[in-house]
Amino acid sequence: MPLDPPTSDGRFGEFGGRFVPETLVPACMELEAAFAEAWSDPAFRAELDGLLRDYAGRPSPLTVCDRLSTELGVQVLLKREDLNHTGSHKINNVLGQALLARRMGKERLVAETGAGQHGVATATAAALLGMACTVYMGEVDMRRQELNVFRMRLLGAEVRAAMSGSRTLKDAINEAMRDWVATVESTHYCLGSVMGPHPYPWMVRELHTVIGTEAREQCAALLGGDGLPDVVTACVGGGSNAIGIFSGFAGTRAELVGVEPAGGAAVGRGAPGVVHGSKSFLLQDEWGQVQEAESISAGLDYPGIGPEHAHLAAAGLARYEQVDDREVIEAFALLSRTEGIIPALEPAHALAWISRDREALAGRTVLLNLSGRGDKDVAQMMEHLG
Ligand SMILES: *Cc1c(COP(=O)(O)O)cnc(C)c1O
Repeated sequence: MPLDPPTSDGRFGEFGGRFVPETLVPACMELEAAFAEAWSDPAFRAELDGLLRDYAGRPSPLTVCDRLSTELGVQVLLKREDLNHTGSHKINNVLGQALLARRMGKERLVAETGAGQHGVATATAAALLGMACTVYMGEVDMRRQELNVFRMRLLGAEVRAAMSGSRTLKDAINEAMRDWVATVESTHYCLGSVMGPHPYPWMVRELHTVIGTEAREQCAALLGGDGLPDVVTACVGGGSNAIGIFSGFAGTRAELVGVEPAGGAAVGRGAPGVVHGSKSFLLQDEWGQVQEAESISAGLDYPGIGPEHAHLAAAGLARYEQVDDREVIEAFALLSRTEGIIPALEPAHALAWISRDREALAGRTVLLNLSGRGDKDVAQMMEHLG
């Protein structure tokens, strides 16, 4: 049994929905209809599959980690999304949305970005398809992530600073939505995770199911018995890479475990609320004001979580763990030293959880979605470890 589709009004259990200004309702409905139609069109699927193969480098390999497994006493398998073009899973989503936007007759993409990874991926897809691209980024993040700002400009995108609020990711999302409201005739909003109003959480999930589908086949070919790992784990910011790999194993005996940063633990410390167009768990103060998330990895600095994860957590279909920055830094070094793979700090969260819980996991097989590579993080880690 794969993951359920949302209800017709975009709900996963009590979460999700479409909480947007009146002016955006028709745009969301047009997008939902266009995606549903494209997703069931073999020609669209074939074009996307072709780009994922010849441009992004799919299928991504499954790597058995012998030295790491010996050190932890847990058999660890890595799904290598770090080897995709642009260095993470994000390319799966943006290629799909860019192709869809072109099919809908749109000439321009807008996107939000925090650390810059989704902005770079969107600018990449726009360059490939010859579309205009505007990326909103918090002014604080622009200063922290200069290199990604330069990359986006090199790829032909315009980068605009979000100057409101804390001038970080959540403010960039607000600005991108405002832009979309004003330009919806010509513009598609390429949202970067399984969040926002319906149909985004569903659409972005579907575009990442390729991760789980491949991993399920790769595990079946590699493992004996029923061909399943005991546990499937991934880091959770908005939750797109996690839902992508979970989708291949939902309804099986494999246990699904999402790992959040302790400083941005929407499931661990949040409460139900509405932000950025949907209802989910989010970090908020006693007055219901959204609180800032804080973690060592900018890619997980989001105070909310995708609504489907809130549903999976509330229904007991997946479990969510929290790790702190120190555990993440240790995991970052551990994978580098034992396997010759420098991970992004985001998936290092999932490894940090395996490492901390290794006694409970002893002898079991754990599939970890390695959502991205660590090149972007080495300078920061040099300060901590060097
Ligand atoms: C953006 C990013 C994430 C967080 O996004 P999700 O939607 O939670 O997957 C995780 N890992 C990497 C490498 C990223 O770039």
